[in-house]
Amino acid sequence: MKFKDSLIGVDVSLALCAQTEPDLYFPEGTAGSITRQVLEAKKLCFECPILNLCFESAIKTPMIEDWGVWGGTSRNERTTMRRKPHVLKEHQKKIKEAEDANRIEEKAA
Ligand code: SF4
Repeated sequence: MKFKDSLIGVDVSLALCAQTEPDLYFPEGTAGSITRQVLEAKKLCFECPILNLCFESAIKTPMIEDWGVWGGTSRNERTTMRRKPHVLKEHQKKIKEAEDANRIEEKAA
């Protein structure tokens, strides 16, 4: 499993990365393989019930080892978001849209 200390108190059993292949979120291999894994992990993040909590934790918590996919972002994306507020806001907007869509799907099920 992969969780940050700052997620303690959150019901991490809901995290999709805890229910899928954790290595996907810390990809290794060739450049092409890493890109594929990151895209797959990010896609799953956008279906995760704790997406927003995870992302806000990842973006706000200074980490010594900030790597892997968290809250639908790669390390490089988080680095950019910390420097460029408009990129951060765009991702937060995508999270809100995903959460709204997921709620609608849950109600329809
Ligand atoms: S948003 Fe992604 S990295 Fe964060 S808990 Fe959910 S599946 Fe794991």
